[in-house]
Amino acid sequence: MRCPYCGSPNTQVKDSRPSEDHTTIRRRRVCADCGGRFTTFERVQLRELTVIKRSGRRIPFDRDKLMRSVQIALRKRPVDPERTERMVSGIVRRLENMGESDIHSETIGHLVMEALKGLDDVAYVRFASVYKNFREAKDFEALLGELAGTEGEDGEDDAGSSNALDD
Ligand SMILES: [Zn+2]
Repeated sequence: MRCPYCGSPNTQVKDSRPSEDHTTIRRRRVCADCGGRFTTFERVQLRELTVIKRSGRRIPFDRDKLMRSVQIALRKRPVDPERTERMVSGIVRRLENMGESDIHSETIGHLVMEALKGLDDVAYVRFASVYKNFREAKDFEALLGELAGTEGEDGEDDAGSSNALDD
């Protein structure tokens, strides 16, 4: 870690201690060249991802919330809960690996859509209808029709669930 005062790379850790909740480690460092002291924080990557909503509002990322919207999309679909769990974990890992702590809600929506596409067509369409803001039932049915082999008679139910998802 480079010294913030003189830029020297010769800094040493004097002291390391975890924060109270053990999610960060605080390190006190000293510069061997100028004697400057500074503190760095080491944070686990399962950390505060912040979601930036379309409105610009920032909210802490919440895995449970993500899981809930995925489950709404998957309602009554024959998908093993374990696969759902793995899918959500995969999405969270990808978000964490993006290297940014600020994540646009569109990015999350996109990842969820991609993942659902491989998991269940109907759930994919349900989620996509919200993500793409298809509020018209007509648009929704058109999208359903594009995916051959999905149960058309579920259309009304699907529109209902998409409204529930839409805040
Ligand atoms: Zn220095």
